[in-house]
Amino acid sequence: MKRVLLLGGTGDALAIARALPDAHVYSLAGLGRVPADLACAVRVGGFGGIDGLVRYLCDEKIALVVDATHPYAAQMSRHAHEACAIARVALWAVRRPAWQPQPGDDWREASDWRAIVERIAAFHRPLFTLGREPLAHLHEIPASQYWTIRCLDAHPGNARAKIVDARGPFDLDGERALFDAARIDVVISKNSGGRATEAKLAVARERGLPVVMLARPALPAADRIFDDAASARDALLQWLGQTHTSET
Ligand code: NAP
Repeated sequence: MKRVLLLGGTGDALAIARALPDAHVYSLAGLGRVPADLACAVRVGGFGGIDGLVRYLCDEKIALVVDATHPYAAQMSRHAHEACAIARVALWAVRRPAWQPQPGDDWREASDWRAIVERIAAFHRPLFTLGREPLAHLHEIPASQYWTIRCLDAHPGNARAKIVDARGPFDLDGERALFDAARIDVVISKNSGGRATEAKLAVARERGLPVVMLARPALPAADRIFDDAASARDALLQWLGQTHTSET
């Protein structure tokens, strides 16, 4: 039986995993919630780099890897690309299109943490929506700033920073309330694409606030690339149907 390895950690991946039959595997890094209601197998934790992934693909007789990791999880995507080439396994990828600035948007691109710090130097009440990276810099907050950091980690924060431990999707009213309560004057974001976390951009737009956008990492090629979970899921079900038919 030819098996699928789905690399996840995103809502898109979970939507695909929900359609995967039990012979196949959904893989998570282990940072977030592990779904317990899937028909497919769920494995948690890294593979041990490219070599570990090559071994896994061979041992588990994986015929197709579907990379549905987050667009900023570039290391996992690179490892999948390398390992699939070595093990001669097909690779598909789900790559959500990046958000595009709309009229009224004031986006300022930043390539890394240092550039982010420079871009926000003149502001006082930044909202970070980058995941956990700002937690490593809590001791570097300038006296003129108070940070609001939204991420999945429960963390005490400090006198100059509040950690909002929350998981999307986020809607407009909730985002407006957060911006009001925290008196946000600049937003720092990854360009994740998709609907679940885009409401903050609309609120920044309606308030004329700048958004410092962390540039997307370059991602490797794949045999097939899908814009969204639904098209990847449909193609996968078709592939599974064809594979199953050709084997029976
Ligand atoms: P990363 O830097 O690309 O990957 C770091 C390491 O974590 C990988 O080398 C791999 O370890 C392991 N890993 C990552 N995804 C895995 C998966 N689906 N299954 C098994 N191992 C995995 O990734 P990251 O940015 O830390 O993100 C970690 C996970 O969170 C990803 O699955 C991603 O989809 C999800 N996520 C990330 C973001 C983000 O902004 N980066 C946002 C939302 C969700 P080994 O080398 O040992 O195999």
